Amino acid sequence: MDLALSDEQSAVRRLAEDFVRREVAPYAAEWDRAESVDRGIVRLLGELGFLGLTVDEAYGGSGGDHLTYCLVTEELGRGDSSVRGIVSVSLGLVAKTIAAWGDEDQKRAWLPGLTSGGLLGCFGLTEPGSGSDAGNLATRAVRDGGDYLLTGTKMFITNGTWADLALIFARTGDVPGYRGVSAFLVPTDSPGLTRTPVHGKLGLRGQATAELALDRVRVPASALLGPEGKGFSVAMSALTKGRMSVAAGCVGIARAALDAAVGYAGEREQFGRPIAGHQLVQELISDISVDVAAARLLTWRVADLIDRGADFATAASQAKLYASEAAVRAANNALQVYGGYGYIDEYPVGKLVRDARVMTLYKGTSQIQKLIIGRALTGVSAF
Ligand code: FAD
Repeated sequence: MDLALSDEQSAVRRLAEDFVRREVAPYAAEWDRAESVDRGIVRLLGELGFLGLTVDEAYGGSGGDHLTYCLVTEELGRGDSSVRGIVSVSLGLVAKTIAAWGDEDQKRAWLPGLTSGGLLGCFGLTEPGSGSDAGNLATRAVRDGGDYLLTGTKMFITNGTWADLALIFARTGDVPGYRGVSAFLVPTDSPGLTRTPVHGKLGLRGQATAELALDRVRVPASALLGPEGKGFSVAMSALTKGRMSVAAGCVGIARAALDAAVGYAGEREQFGRPIAGHQLVQELISDISVDVAAARLLTWRVADLIDRGADFATAASQAKLYASEAAVRAANNALQVYGGYGYIDEYPVGKLVRDARVMTLYKGTSQIQKLIIGRALTGVSAF
């Protein structure tokens, strides 16, 4: 098995590394404190093609394979998870989903804008009353002549206040559970759609998270993405691939933790020598490095399966489960290496712990990943 990167993959990785060094890392702490990344970052991400990875060039995408997508996502995650999340959602959950499920008009209408960074997308599945049990959502889409009227509330929506387009999941008809769900492409300037920022997040503080309220928001029937009643399949196909991108972002967090821990351990002296010379500090660093390597291999395996057209759903859950828990462990170990200084905002590792923490919660909690993996292995659904 050849894990060597091609010249093209290496070049894109270097581009992302350079971008993070110049445009992200110097500002990440400032954005975290201000609870907002600089919005100009979206245009820069678009210019570099990072918002169009794996999308067909005919629709403005930058093409490339899923391993390249992982490489870029890892670098962005190493620099700032808030920036990484902008890409994972606008590209990973919205543009790629339109590319997979959209008709020609929908692809032509939205993909060039989304892939260039001229437009931003958000993904509206979660509601106040339905998180893990997403198929039980309450937002309704009611037919009104040739249109639909959407009413309901969406919770914790990444990119929510900035997005131009919301992919909204709503219940059409009276079929209960996931079978009654449909997906809609909703411009966020539609009358009746209001957005309220969610402040006070533990991590990902730079990200524009919002609650979306829809009050009889009118969209034409042509806004339906995929067949009516197939919205849950649309959502799950987006989230399954999306798990790879979160996992890659987690590898980035763990790498940032490793770099920070190694750097600090070499500088800080206690008991007359750098703490890097104490065996228990080496254990912390060694554990982080194993987590980086294992999480990356699981994530690359998903990219390989997708690019070969093989089934990747269970591998995506395994990668997301492992990488997210590994990112939390790695960031926490790095904080331990920093001692009391790790607990202070001036040093980078506290932010890594806070940013890592949400990774085991969104795109399916760790418990939900275990149930998905368990179902695949036993053939019995625990849902
Ligand atoms: P709940 O579903 O209420 O779960 C609570 C606890 O119960 C968890 O530990 C869970 O694992 C456990 N649990 C639930 N059911 C089971 C079960 N059957 N077996 C075992 N344990 C179970 N959503 C979007 O749609 N779009 C976004 O862009 C988006 N971005 C987000 C950004 C942030 C910063 C956050 C915090 C969330 C975001 N979410 C988004 C929502 C996220 O996907 C949900 O928070 C997540 O799915 C969990 O749902 P919940 O918070 O309602 O928790």
